[in-house]
Order: sequence, then C-alpha cells, then structure tokens
Amino acid sequence: MTLLHGDGLRRSFDGVLAVRDVDLEVAHGELRAVIGPNGAGKSTLFNLIGGQLRADAGTVTYDGQRIDRWPPHRRAMGGIAVVFQGARVFRGMTVLENVMVGAHGTTRSGFLAAVSRLPRHRREEREILATARECLDRTGLAEWADRPADTLPLGQQRGLQLARALCGRPRLLLLDEPASGLRAGERAALASLIESLRAGGLTMLLVEHDVAFVTRLADRVTVLDLGQVIAEGTPAEIRTDERVVAAYLGDEVSA
Ligand code: ADP
Ligand code: MG
Repeated sequence: MTLLHGDGLRRSFDGVLAVRDVDLEVAHGELRAVIGPNGAGKSTLFNLIGGQLRADAGTVTYDGQRIDRWPPHRRAMGGIAVVFQGARVFRGMTVLENVMVGAHGTTRSGFLAAVSRLPRHRREEREILATARECLDRTGLAEWADRPADTLPLGQQRGLQLARALCGRPRLLLLDEPASGLRAGERAALASLIESLRAGGLTMLLVEHDVAFVTRLADRVTVLDLGQVIAEGTPAEIRTDERVVAAYLGDEVSA
C-alpha cells in the first residue's frame, strides 16, 4: 500500500525547472532512495514533500490525503519528519535538550516556552523527557545525553539529528544527504542505524548523492537528473542502467 505519492511534481526557480513532472510512489515500510548528481533536483523534491517549498504543479498525497498546500508544521504533525541537508545541532544545548526540541515540535522557542511552564505541565514535561531518552537509546547516544551537542563528533551529530526527528514519532522520515562529510566508520554506523529503523517498520525517503551508500540500504532507488526521473528500480537494476552511469560520469567530469 502507498504511503506517499508525488504526482506530476514541478518546481522552477527564476524560470529554471529544478523538478519537472516527477512521479514518486513510496509504499508503507519502504526505504526509498532518491539519488542524482549535484543540482539534479533532489533537495527541491525533498522540500516539496516536507512542505518547505510549494510545487508549481502536481500533487503530494500522504496517507490518502492531499497535503501539497499544507505548511511544514502541519505535515510534521501528520507524521512527516525531516532531517535537512547540512542540518546543524543547536549549540549551547545538551544532546538531551536537542532531542527534546523534537518532541516539542520543531522550534527552539517551543522548547524554551515548555521548560518555563507551570507545575501542572510538569507531567507532560516528564513524558517528553522519557520519549527523548528513549530516542537517544534507539540511536545509541544515551551515554552522551548531558554533553553539549556541538562537542560530539560529526557522525554522532548526524545520529542526534535522527534522534530528534524520531522523537516526534514519525510515520515517514525524510533524510537529505545524511552521510555527507562522514568518515568511513561513521558512515557504517549511520547505515546500521538507518537499517535498524527500517527493520522497525519506519518508511523512509533517503536522498543521497552517493550511490554506494544507498545500494545496501534501499528497497528501491529513484534516479533524478536535471530535474527528471531517468530511472527507477532495485539497487541492482540501477547500478547497471546506462543512463544512470552516464549521468554520474558527466557529474564527475564536470566536478
Ligand atoms: P540537488 O539537491 O540534487 O543537488 P537542488 O534541488 O538543490 O539539487 O537544486 C536543483 C536546481 O535548482 C539547481 O540548479 C539549483 O541551483 C536550483 N535551485 C535550488 N534551490 C534554489 C533556490 N532556492 N533558488 C534558486 N535556484 C535554486
Ligand atoms: Mg541537495
């Protein structure tokens, strides 16, 4: 059964089409990768689903509802969590506090308002704390709970982004290039974390520039180039697709 359906999605910037007539169907429990060279339109598509951008044409259906006119926070309340490309942790906050922000919604002011609440809200606060600790356990970060978040190595900071996203108990997790800039060991740790979330039944959309990172993880792969879907299939089918190889070779030559 389909959880997410993008149909005929199109978005341009200053007359340049970043995403052109993209169809995307993601099943419940699926880990879908979206790959493509730099500038292919991956983040634009990601933001059309998360709600940070509006489509010029096309629709987004999630869990049977049209959501393409919903603002991001409404999509988040509906169970769509996002980890943006190059997302940073909140400085001046501990690892635990960073995750609690996720349980309170997506803004820091929500968190600050919450910690200054009256006693009658303390029970709710305790529940949020329990959820936050559980998310740290799931991501292997529990022992660092009280450390300032920005002192963690980059790999663990990415884990923390995931923990924060999980704290809202999402049904669809969107990840934009979570492995970029990580060292081999950190990438392997992130891959196992993503694998464990998938084993738990979470539906994910994993945007990546790096084909190698997704081939072990994804059920299916959608390949974007110049804003269009040029291939879709299993990782094995994609690896040998001539158009895909050509798109990536072109990228390397121009890089
Ligand atoms: P990717 O994530 O695959 O690298 P993007 O979706 O970021 O690709 O970008 C696709 C195209 O749209 C690029 O040509 C980029 O320059 C352009 N683009 C993306 N976002 C904006 C924006 N906010 N304003 C203008 N152009 C943009
Ligand atoms: Mg991008």
